Amino acid sequence: MPRYHAGMMRGGRHRGDVPWPAYLLLVTIAVLVVASALRLHARQLEQEQATRWTRIAADIDAILAAVNHHLLLLGAELEHPPGQPDLALPVRHHPSWQGWSARLEVRERGTPVPVHLSGAGPRPPEAAGRELAAALQAAPLMLASRRNLPEATWIYYLSARRFLLAVPWVDPATYHYTDTLLEKPFYRDLEPANNPRLEPRWTEPYQDEFGQGLMVTAARPVVEEGRFSGVVAIDLTLRQLTRLLGEVGPMIRGAYLIDDHGHILAERDPRPAPKADAQPVPDIAQRLPQDISVEQARSALAAGGLQQIGHYRLRVLPLAEAPWKLVVCQTDGAFWWQVLRGMKGELLILVLLGLMALLLERYRRMHARLLIMEDRFRDTTELLPEIIYEADANGNVTFLNQVGMERLGYGQEDLGRLNLRDLFVFRPPERPGVGNCSARLEMEYLVQSRSGEQFPALLRACPIRAHGQIVGERGILIDISELRRYQQELEQLATTDYLTGCYNRRMFMELAELEYKRCRRRRRPCAVLTLDIDHFKHINDSWGHKAGDETLRHFVSVLQQVLRDTDILGRTGGEEFAVLLPDADLDQAEEIAERIRERVASSPLQYGRIRIPLTVSIGVVALEGEGLDTALRQADHALYSAKKEGRNRVVSWV
Ligand code: GH3
Ligand code: MG
Ligand code: MG
Repeated sequence: MPRYHAGMMRGGRHRGDVPWPAYLLLVTIAVLVVASALRLHARQLEQEQATRWTRIAADIDAILAAVNHHLLLLGAELEHPPGQPDLALPVRHHPSWQGWSARLEVRERGTPVPVHLSGAGPRPPEAAGRELAAALQAAPLMLASRRNLPEATWIYYLSARRFLLAVPWVDPATYHYTDTLLEKPFYRDLEPANNPRLEPRWTEPYQDEFGQGLMVTAARPVVEEGRFSGVVAIDLTLRQLTRLLGEVGPMIRGAYLIDDHGHILAERDPRPAPKADAQPVPDIAQRLPQDISVEQARSALAAGGLQQIGHYRLRVLPLAEAPWKLVVCQTDGAFWWQVLRGMKGELLILVLLGLMALLLERYRRMHARLLIMEDRFRDTTELLPEIIYEADANGNVTFLNQVGMERLGYGQEDLGRLNLRDLFVFRPPERPGVGNCSARLEMEYLVQSRSGEQFPALLRACPIRAHGQIVGERGILIDISELRRYQQELEQLATTDYLTGCYNRRMFMELAELEYKRCRRRRRPCAVLTLDIDHFKHINDSWGHKAGDETLRHFVSVLQQVLRDTDILGRTGGEEFAVLLPDADLDQAEEIAERIRERVASSPLQYGRIRIPLTVSIGVVALEGEGLDTALRQADHALYSAKKEGRNRVVSWV
């Protein structure tokens, strides 16, 4: 039960509204949560991607470092030939291509493994002795390198002395040294004229002539005692590097390994790959999205790091072991979608905030409705003229409206202490349970105010329920004391004669009938008198109507002095009366009638200074089985005789 105080919450502009800061706070929290979560997750994803891609670059670098390392070892071996070369080789001359080959076998873990050796001319020249000796010395190391470098297809020493040492073995009939090899760019680029600092080089990617796909060659010059003696090289397939690019992660537009000219060495691209044997080898500018211009691509690649081009994010990671770069391209959309997907916790918070907003809205509406109902209740309880109360299950009054407080004489401070038992004057067992009527109740009670004043009231009560249980009652007390008074007045008006106070004709007939029947039941005698004041018209005419009225009242009071309490007196006409005398036979009735006549005659009315003499004529009849109406008629006959005989006398019906 909402307890309110007069005027509480009245006049507020947004009465019933949840204060707007609650919504503003929710929206602000939501915006802050989203903004900070987006920033945080974007940074996290960026870091995660950078770490992942740096690791791929490091893995690629590790492979390239191994290649470089083996090249270095092989170079060192080739640059330090043994003291005296032993050139007793089983050389075979091949007139068809004007060259020679030698069957060379290196023991590897006890097994002889063939190594390819071929050169120009009929046999190895004398001048090539040191280089050949160095090559033979390096052959076992070449085999070991090949074992250690899974991507290495060929490892070879191309000597400036016009011969070739290569692993694995290839039939000289299929492949052998030719002078054109010395014209190949990878060789020319390493010659001191083109490479004064004698640095190792990585070639551009190219298609393998033996169909192994895209390859790249790592090579370094061999310089023995200041003399350029050839090139040691390792041909690598790019399959493993391509596999490594597969680890760039999801939702990537493309990942590319490119050389310093922009040629693609390896790529990971969801679009169809260029033909496996494409010539020339595709360029990064061709594979990047078309919205990225060649210039934009070039400058981004040159700058390195993370670049934003249009709605693309380009990360460029240079490698350490080759002049290559790892390039990863992702659309902004994909990036932010990944960020959003990582925001599950925050989305949950947003959902919770949404739910809170919903609940808040629900609460706001309920609150508004409640306030309207509260207003309605208060206005109703204060506008009604009735006493309205609420009590708990023990009958303790918890609410009493203003009317109730005023009528019953209690105040706000009495609530809780005042019990319904203090209010009702109970006549047990009228109401066993107080404060927990189990159903609608409508009853009349006597109610008592604090001062002890009692008044009748109609109680209408109903139980107050909470969670299916009766926890008290609510009632209206309608003060019906006024109603009762009116009722009594009406009753009196209906039964008595307003002028004289005795019964009117209707009531006389009713009561006389009852009494007559009672007498007959008890076999007791019963008599009726009819009385008529003599020359009453004369009183009216002589002293006025008021005097006439006064005479009537005086006449009745004289009659009442003579009659017993059990006799029934009624005014049956203007100045005509009737009396039922229970337990009286004819003699007794005549006696009473005579007493009346005498008393009336000896009791003139003192009307101011005037003395109005009064006499009455009386008809008497004893009731002997006939109806009351008949008896009255008979008494009237007797009365008529009395009048005729000169008035102021008693005549009986015989
Ligand atoms: P009688 O001796 O033959 O009975 O003569 P009476 O004048 O009494 O006869 P009647 O019955 O003709 O007159 C009755 C009068 O009583 C007529 C009427 O004006 C008067 N009267 C009837 N009711 C009232 C009343 O309530 N007040 C007054 N002042 N006069 C009444
Ligand atoms: Mg008369
Ligand atoms: Mg008369």
